[in-house]
Amino acid sequence: MPELPEVETVRRGLIDKLCGRVVRSVQVLRPASIAHPSPDEFAKALQGRRFEDIERRGKYLLFTLDKGAKLGAHLRMSGRLLVLKPAQENKNVRTEHVRVRIELDDGCVFLFEDMRVFGRLWFIPAQVPVEQIVSGLADLGVEPLSADFNADYLGEALKTRTQAIKTVLLDQTLIAGIGNIYADESLHLARINPQRRAKELKRNQIEVLCTQIKQVLSRAIENRGSTLRNYTDSDGVNGNYQSVAHVYGRAGHACRQCSAAIVRIRLGGRSAHFCPKCQPVPRSGKAIDSPGAKKKLH
Ligand SMILES: [Zn+2]
Repeated sequence: MPELPEVETVRRGLIDKLCGRVVRSVQVLRPASIAHPSPDEFAKALQGRRFEDIERRGKYLLFTLDKGAKLGAHLRMSGRLLVLKPAQENKNVRTEHVRVRIELDDGCVFLFEDMRVFGRLWFIPAQVPVEQIVSGLADLGVEPLSADFNADYLGEALKTRTQAIKTVLLDQTLIAGIGNIYADESLHLARINPQRRAKELKRNQIEVLCTQIKQVLSRAIENRGSTLRNYTDSDGVNGNYQSVAHVYGRAGHACRQCSAAIVRIRLGGRSAHFCPKCQPVPRSGKAIDSPGAKKKLH
């Protein structure tokens, strides 16, 4: 599933290709991909609009159109947004997975491809608050790369949380855009076990975790441009990422820091990967949603 760095990479890749371009025609090939308004109204509203800017909020993309309207997009599991020359279209796209096809005034096509059909597009008319139409935006937490996300914010948020820290990091109402991969990676670099009860983290651990979250995400954005091309639709994680990940998807492989075997567990309904030596399983303070809280792991 694309997380913040992948969505940010998509945003950066689309800006030059889209901004200034005018929509010539819109074909909605799969009505379910349009969250708002109806597919017909969506196509009609978008026609003739000019793309002016692209912003990102968490894993959402917001395209500013002329006259104050906006186009919202969430890629979910397998969505891809591509701007292609017509000659590239048949080569780079599985036509059966194209859900929305938009022709632009420079002859290129802007495609929303989505194998699993979980991704969504919204058209937001001028003068309507975006949160009113894209309801997921209303409760979104802080941007982890902004100054608002710091040890004070995280410490305050964790104070009352009895869940595992890994589970809390995935809560989009707290931090926007962190998913399974970067939560596991940040916790590893901060040497915190994912099962640790959130409210029991010490101030210095919270500071290190904050720094690592920012670094892991920034580094991923820097590296993502080249790796995103290989982005697979099967699990959203590509081969290249596996070669730089410390723990994610590396169960049974040697930890890059200490050579111990990386462990994969189920935690809060998701998988969690960690190094048992660098991130020792807490003796106490283990969260209630952690499987190891009731029985021993090994
Ligand atoms: Zn290790």
